[in-house]
Amino acid sequence: MNVLLLGSGGREHALAWKLVQSSALDTLYAAPGNPGIAAIATIAPLKLEDHRGIVDFCFRNSIELVVVGPEAPLVDGLADNLRAVGIAVFGPDKKAARLEGSKAFTKKLCERVGIPTAKFRHARALGSALRALKAFDLPVVIKADGLAAGKGVTIAETEAEATAAIEDIFSGRFGKKGAAVVIEEFMTGEEVSLFALTDGKHFVAFGSAQDHKRAFDGDTGPNTGGMGAYSPASVLTPELEAQAIDTIVRPTVQALAQDGTPYIGVLYAGLMLTDEGPKLVEYNVRFGDPECQVLMARFDDDLLALMLAVANGELGTMAPPSFANRTALAVVIAAKGYPDEPRKGGAIGGIDAAEATGATVFHAGTALIDEQLVASGGRVLNVVATGRGVKSAREAAYKGVDAIDYPEGFNRSDIGWRELERKR
Ligand code: ATP
Repeated sequence: MNVLLLGSGGREHALAWKLVQSSALDTLYAAPGNPGIAAIATIAPLKLEDHRGIVDFCFRNSIELVVVGPEAPLVDGLADNLRAVGIAVFGPDKKAARLEGSKAFTKKLCERVGIPTAKFRHARALGSALRALKAFDLPVVIKADGLAAGKGVTIAETEAEATAAIEDIFSGRFGKKGAAVVIEEFMTGEEVSLFALTDGKHFVAFGSAQDHKRAFDGDTGPNTGGMGAYSPASVLTPELEAQAIDTIVRPTVQALAQDGTPYIGVLYAGLMLTDEGPKLVEYNVRFGDPECQVLMARFDDDLLALMLAVANGELGTMAPPSFANRTALAVVIAAKGYPDEPRKGGAIGGIDAAEATGATVFHAGTALIDEQLVASGGRVLNVVATGRGVKSAREAAYKGVDAIDYPEGFNRSDIGWRELERKR
């Protein structure tokens, strides 16, 4: 069977790495891809915004499954356009993708079906937003509605900060047309990610992970797309996971199905483990990056068969996914200056040496220029290793990191610190 994988990050390299292990795969096509993906798949000259071009490519190349890595094409309706012509897709259609595309949509769904989450108010105008703010204690969370790549959230410690954040949202920075804000109660607890696969009717839990959003050690510095992750995260005990499935995942899948907008793909629940139990912080409609890399490093079954079952509404016929009873840990190597102004063009070597240590290296922002691998984005490489526990996974991953020769890069040296402290 031929498969088309869309995306170009470490997440997609990890998905490609796992998909090519399937005996049912004939050719894996990928777009836009990256040099790591190009080494194991055939790169297709496609643009993610060009839905017509993607559909045509699928027909010309007998594609039986399209796997969409990032959220933007999903929110943009790519899955709808593929399904409309009978092509199976791993990823939700436009209406279900509002779970990530619109914070107000998700908060209203939670309210309607009683999913535990922070109390909130939604406002479409500056005046009503400032009035709504008065009902909240400090700190308070101010979010721009819509996709803002993590840049749209402010945790305001003072009323002045909250007011400034609201004014900023209505200033047009995130697009003036339809600007809207979600104001939320601040939740206290530890954050953890829970993944579930669903075909619209059935769902299965697909593991937990914890990422590291801040750029520097000790969770300091600016927010990033993620500097490292590990899986499983023991803070999500089996009891808490069952509770999160019962109170958050199941009612979400059921409500979307009842609304006639069944969710097909991976549902990524960002949870806050509060004193009152797990509460939903946010939904993402795709795998996390770098959480996907650690999930794939542990996943023990045929990914293609599972994704196909999700896309075709046949998840109910599959055995529950099985994961190696090991910890996987990923360290992201980013270009110096990331996230604000990553320096591009730095030469990268040592990937074979890193893999010789037993680690796996997934590419993200890399490019091949005159046969030299160079950095072309903010997050450049992911070094992933597994071990019997977090300590050995971390030692193995950093051994791989040490073998990478990329002087223009940097990485955190404390990935997995919470899990290590718990185990001590
Ligand atoms: P991302 O790009 O990380 O997915 P996003 O723009 O979708 O971000 P959220 O995930 O909703 O925004 O919020 C980003 C971060 O802000 C969360 O991971 C969490 O750390 C913090 N946060 C959001 N909402 C709350 C809340 N109600 N209470 C406490 N912290 C919160």
